[in-house]
Amino acid sequence: MALSFQLGVYNCMGKRRKKRIKRQRRVLKPTRYFQCPRCNSMTLTIDFKKSERYGFKRAIIRCGTCGLYCEREVPEAVERVDVYNTVVDLAYEGRLEDECRGEVEAAEQAAGEAVGGEE
Ligand SMILES: [Zn+2]
Repeated sequence: MALSFQLGVYNCMGKRRKKRIKRQRRVLKPTRYFQCPRCNSMTLTIDFKKSERYGFKRAIIRCGTCGLYCEREVPEAVERVDVYNTVVDLAYEGRLEDECRGEVEAAEQAAGEAVGGEE
């Protein structure tokens, strides 16, 4: 009784491999939000502008929640994260208001003084 030893040796079949490499490229937005050291909201933005000084640029740090505004001149090579670290350090040391040429006062003045009183 020599029943087949070769039973079910169909290994090579049905092995299909699909290559599934999907690469999704996510476009990073140019404006990234940081956590504000003053109010802890994720609404702090850092923009760069041209500076008059060669090799430098202006970093504009703003918070949409508490109105923090800060302008600093930084070397061209400095990145957003570096600026952010500096801001956090300054805030931690309580020197943020001194170091930043803010326009907060002007904004506050404009918001005040309601004129009215006709009878
Ligand atoms: Zn804030």
